Amino acid sequence: MPMDLERLRRQLLEEREKLLSQLEHKAPPPQSNIGLGNHMADDATEAFEQAKRVSLTRREQEILAKIEKALKKMDEGTYGYCERCGEPIDYARLKAIPYATLCLRCQKKIEQGM
Ligand SMILES: [Zn+2]
Repeated sequence: MPMDLERLRRQLLEEREKLLSQLEHKAPPPQSNIGLGNHMADDATEAFEQAKRVSLTRREQEILAKIEKALKKMDEGTYGYCERCGEPIDYARLKAIPYATLCLRCQKKIEQGM
């Protein structure tokens, strides 16, 4: 049975949304003239860029980067393969962690320092 890529893509996008909305909560108060004029979108982007620099924990940054990478791989058609051994990653694993870049076996080896 082929992987349900659309479903995984949705999961990735949702996960990304979740991370980004956490950022909004953590974002420092806007510094200047936000709310003036009709540039809400620009302001929001700016606030986000600022938050990204200031408030993302290392782990969140890593996950966000992995999500972006996974989405890019989907576009390239290389999504779902282990970066270490090249074998397809278990669909069940991808459903649990759609941004996984390693198969379970390699992940375990790395965790054990092998
Ligand atoms: Zn592997």
